[in-house]
Amino acid sequence: MTGSTKYIFVTGGVTSSLGKGIISASLAKLLQARGFTVTIQKLDPYINVDPGTLNPYEHGECFVTEDGAETDLDLGHYERFLDVPTSKANNVTTGRIYQNVINKERRGEYLGKTVQVIPHITDEIKAHVQALGRKGIYDFVITEVGGTVGDIESLPYVEAMRQLKWQKGKDCITIHLTLLPYLGTTGELKTKPTQHSVKELLSLGVQPDVLVCRTEHPMQKGMKEKIALFCNVDANAVIESRDADTIYDVPLLMQAEGLDQVVLQKLGVANSPDVDLTAWQDFLRRYKHPKSEVHIGLVGKYVELKDAYKSIKEALEHAGAENESKVHIKWVHSEKLTPKNVAKHLGGLSGILVAPGFGHRGIEGKIEAIKYARENKVPFLGICLGMQMAVIEFGRNVLGYDDANSTEMNADTKHPVIAMMEEQKTIENKGGTMRLGAYACKLAEGSTAHKVYGRKDITERHRHRYEFNNEYLEAYKKAGMAPTGVNPQTKLVEIVEVKDHPWFVGVQFHPEYRSTVMKPHALFVHFVKAAMQHGGTPVKQEAEAQQA
Ligand code: GLN
Repeated sequence: MTGSTKYIFVTGGVTSSLGKGIISASLAKLLQARGFTVTIQKLDPYINVDPGTLNPYEHGECFVTEDGAETDLDLGHYERFLDVPTSKANNVTTGRIYQNVINKERRGEYLGKTVQVIPHITDEIKAHVQALGRKGIYDFVITEVGGTVGDIESLPYVEAMRQLKWQKGKDCITIHLTLLPYLGTTGELKTKPTQHSVKELLSLGVQPDVLVCRTEHPMQKGMKEKIALFCNVDANAVIESRDADTIYDVPLLMQAEGLDQVVLQKLGVANSPDVDLTAWQDFLRRYKHPKSEVHIGLVGKYVELKDAYKSIKEALEHAGAENESKVHIKWVHSEKLTPKNVAKHLGGLSGILVAPGFGHRGIEGKIEAIKYARENKVPFLGICLGMQMAVIEFGRNVLGYDDANSTEMNADTKHPVIAMMEEQKTIENKGGTMRLGAYACKLAEGSTAHKVYGRKDITERHRHRYEFNNEYLEAYKKAGMAPTGVNPQTKLVEIVEVKDHPWFVGVQFHPEYRSTVMKPHALFVHFVKAAMQHGGTPVKQEAEAQQA
């Protein structure tokens, strides 16, 4: 596109959790499918410098970028939809903004001025938004403002948006996402909360250009016109966003509603190429019309909150579609698993995935699940802590190290088969100090991992402090657990495989962060394939007919 970068803000009103991330990612997908370059950024109005130290119960999964930033899970959606890596610059929190401003103040960069929310905090916010645009590679920068308009904590962001809109004129628009609640007693959708939410934005000096209205039911006749009139927007800029069967339908639903067209029109972009979503539609066809189905257990301690394992869940679904198989995930609480009930919980599953995690809670259950998978030859994928637990299980039950453990869980174990990495031992701060981001790994000739990746040199993203203890390497190799992926520089073990097993792979890294709709991750694809071979069942005719 010729001309300057265009800025699109996405704000939310009425309630939280309306899916701003999915709407932002869907719009970005439509613009990308027209041949434009797009990036999406999330501004989070909390004081933590990044979400890395947040409990998953508070905030869901922490998504790790290639360059090792610990970020909001919405960045996972951005990457899965766009297939373009994000970076540190794509997630900014209030904590980071203030940290930068305070650091500048300490360095004397404000030349004696009183440092204030306006202009210093708002300038810092604007600088972060425009930094992505200045790279000169993006036609569009979409900025999702976390929280709900009207919150005290999002005020500086709304003010920064107001200023940028004023400064950029036609190159900057705001899309406001609201909710149309449905009153069951009268059978009606209500527009008043949307009107109020727009008034709230107006009181802060921002006129939204486009409204996206989340609704469970179709909008009634004349409703778009009514909202348009009350909110000073064009009727064609009131977009209906009905609940979808899958988030991957949303780009097509938004296309049908003309979201991308109205955005281009508002930003003065004429003659853009047509949307080409052929490959996306092909994915959806495979996803919605599977030929078989397979049941996979996901063992973790946060299973009540599925967002804690967002990228793993999505990666399993991408892999299912690739294999034309419907993956049913059985969420298994690791704290509930005991030697007595493990067969009851995991019996009948065709694959077992043990999830990442921190701390002691639930690890004995993870170890039981792994023992079950290993002994019963059920395909197994262990991720990060899941891999470490596989090493401990093997140590205890095959090598006879009764108290084998990670020093994270028991600092005094006689067999620290998993131990803290050397460089971690002197680190005191918790935030942003793990081994983070992409590192190289060399795969062993003929290993399962080698077959899966189809090459020997790979990189994958990490987030951990503990590692396989190389003092035990020979003992493990001899007993049948092989290190099949090793970091070429540090010799850290990144992958272990049990030899006498159809498919048993533990990875120290997080393959789930790299799985996208267009490029499902090979490890997940092959894990699902192995599960299908172990015990997938063809989809029954009736079920198929129903889904069609
Ligand atoms: N707690 C383990 C470590 O820090 C595993 C981390 C994880 O699963 N992401 O090494």
